[in-house]
Amino acid sequence: MKRLALLAALVVLFAAPIAAQGPDARVRLYWLQAPESLRIVAHADAASVRLCSPCTNAGVVAPLEVKAVGNQIEAKPGPWRGDSVEVEGTYRVEVPGHAALTLAYPITVRAGDGRLQLTVTMPLEDYVAGVLAGEASSFRSAESLTAMAVAARTYAARFRGRHQAEGFDFCDTTHCQDLRLRAVTDRLEEAAEATEGELLWYDGLPAATYYHRHCGGSTETARALDPELRAPYLRAQHDGFCTAKDPGEWQAEVTKEELRQALAAAGIETPVSVQSLAIVERTPSGRAERLRLSGSGAATVSATDFRFAVGRALGWNRIRSDLYEVRDLGDRFLFRGRGHGHGVGLCQVGAAQMGEAGKSYREILSFYYPGTALGLTAQGLGWQARAGERVELLSTRPTEDQSLIALAERLLRGAEQRTGWPLGQRPQLRVYPSVEVYRNATGQPGWVAASTRGQVIRLQPARVLREAGTLESTVEHELLHLVVESRAHPRLPLWFREGVVLYLSQARSAVPSGDPSIGLEQLERMLSQPRSEEELRRAYAAARARVEELVARHGLPAVLGWVEAGLPAAAGAHRSR
Ligand SMILES: [Zn+2]
Ligand SMILES: [Zn+2]
Repeated sequence: MKRLALLAALVVLFAAPIAAQGPDARVRLYWLQAPESLRIVAHADAASVRLCSPCTNAGVVAPLEVKAVGNQIEAKPGPWRGDSVEVEGTYRVEVPGHAALTLAYPITVRAGDGRLQLTVTMPLEDYVAGVLAGEASSFRSAESLTAMAVAARTYAARFRGRHQAEGFDFCDTTHCQDLRLRAVTDRLEEAAEATEGELLWYDGLPAATYYHRHCGGSTETARALDPELRAPYLRAQHDGFCTAKDPGEWQAEVTKEELRQALAAAGIETPVSVQSLAIVERTPSGRAERLRLSGSGAATVSATDFRFAVGRALGWNRIRSDLYEVRDLGDRFLFRGRGHGHGVGLCQVGAAQMGEAGKSYREILSFYYPGTALGLTAQGLGWQARAGERVELLSTRPTEDQSLIALAERLLRGAEQRTGWPLGQRPQLRVYPSVEVYRNATGQPGWVAASTRGQVIRLQPARVLREAGTLESTVEHELLHLVVESRAHPRLPLWFREGVVLYLSQARSAVPSGDPSIGLEQLERMLSQPRSEEELRRAYAAARARVEELVARHGLPAVLGWVEAGLPAAAGAHRSR
């Protein structure tokens, strides 16, 4: 990877108002229940709507009624008809029959066969937090949640291509992973955040990290899900953790007639009347593998197909796993079993129990996926933390990067002195082992040296920045942003935030002189969505020049006062959309 173009190009992403960059995960919402119509309500003036065919910017509009008409979209007010509606910023989606969903990710709504197709583009770690909300919200220990975050992230990395032909990465159902954006909490976000980018690797590839609810006391091999998969880390082994918490026993009665109908509905060939059912083959873990149905004729079916057919027709809570015995009760069968789900890989009840018993997330993962390596790369480089007095360092090479702590603390003191604003929080410097890992984790192009979200400053490898001569200016820039953002009025335009930071920077910086012909609205766009390194560089220069001018005219104390109080109209308080 080439890094010739690296300079003090720094983009700051703050959690809420600014859409994150980079197509991290394109997620289809309401995949199985695609609505025919919906309403989009922009959040105050913090959203923008584009109507496409070709695109025209509709700005912020009153509640938008969107309806699918064949493969086209009809929107009101308007009326307008076209191919898609795109919304950025913060908005609420109201789908009939569902609770409203407030989102801050760019969304595209298209139509197909009279149904609306909603695709959001979100940072991968936000997707992981959303999956935790769907799959692990009841986990009490932080370590078990963290283990689940790594499993969910690795699963996503491994199976990302599944919906490629349909134009997105993941659906929001258990076909991919159960996503519940409405139920995301700070705790779930932190679990994802704590292991950002960490995957489980096997043989140079992200592992196929299957997981399930409850293994019933023994996990299953990969063969049950994919006979082709070479995954020795998915093996049949005893699990005493889940059963210590809850034996996971269940029983279900299914009438022979219900069974015949369920199998027929799934297209499974059966005898005309099912009289008896026998388990003729079991898997290494003792699960039913093949069943023999007989009556007037006989047929052998896979136990998994059988369970899916019953689940679809009669509900998923009847026959919950393939780990069961069957008894014939005349007109019905009695299934008595243990566990919930396919039993392959991580057992969620067991993992939750391991966490409560004090096991670390590494121990949980190596128990359920033995032989895999945990790390940011296939070489198994993992995060290690070092704590300074004021800042924390997360690095894969802590010995090499240790000196960044002292550098950052010195720069932070300088930033606090120049502004007079002590920083209450404790920033974390996260140094990536390679430009490639940095790009994958942040979604930033390689020419963006660092990006900040919340209190986490993500940096390209220190060696790369040092060679480019921009290590100090990069770290200073990001720290100044944290200090400024900790005081910033919520409606402060980007150009002013950026300009103040650049004005206050002491480290040598490669920003050229400003171009006065760039208007404020254009400047906001260039800063929030730079199309190139060159454009971002020009935007920085223009932002700095404007703030320099304000300081020359009004003095630095007045300008810093505006950071907290908001920008007066005379100073360019225009807020761009
Ligand atoms: Zn899917
Ligand atoms: Zn288990």
